[in-house]
Amino acid sequence: MQRLALFDLDHTLVNLDEAFGVWAVEFADKRELAHQAVAWLLDLNAEGYPHREVFFGRVRERFGLVELWRRYRRRMPHLARCPSAVINGLALLWDAGWKVGVVTNWTPDNQLGNLQRTGLAAAVNAYALAGIEGVRKPDVRLFEIAAQRCGTTLAGGGWMVGDHPIADISGGHAASLHTVWIDRGTWPGQEHEADQVVTDVLQATQVIQQHHT
Ligand SMILES: [Mg+2]
Repeated sequence: MQRLALFDLDHTLVNLDEAFGVWAVEFADKRELAHQAVAWLLDLNAEGYPHREVFFGRVRERFGLVELWRRYRRRMPHLARCPSAVINGLALLWDAGWKVGVVTNWTPDNQLGNLQRTGLAAAVNAYALAGIEGVRKPDVRLFEIAAQRCGTTLAGGGWMVGDHPIADISGGHAASLHTVWIDRGTWPGQEHEADQVVTDVLQATQVIQQHHT
């Protein structure tokens, strides 16, 4: 199997919960909302409204504010961080001859900003962004685009690492890749089918290296 490693971005390479926490405090401060507003926002986020449009629908109802989602998309890339340990983990893969790519479904105005500001754009060989390519995970075509940009094809196999059981794991399998699932929980009726399960992305880089030594 060739040394190709593809990674999801949100909640995999980038810790969005941390960025969200900072954003929630800023949001409440700027609008002079009562302190409970922050707890309410964090709870709503933890309840798992994965689609921000739905999330901001609820925020709008609660606070009577408009145009929030657009501002949120503009602000979040400034708050998102990729830990230096993760950047180093990717550098170790590079040193060991791996081709490293990012495959993400984020909205287009977020995707590039996040990759560039976190330093990830320079830490990988290539990326395939759903918002730009017009095709989303779990569609195999997005994985194929990432592989091609890494100078290869999916025919040689490889690995997909991500936290979403369908977009990343089912998608990765459909793309003939081995999969590593970052366990952030499943939901009723949706179990993961990953080859390997880890708790964070650094562990994932170690697991895939072990399979090639
Ligand atoms: Mg994710």
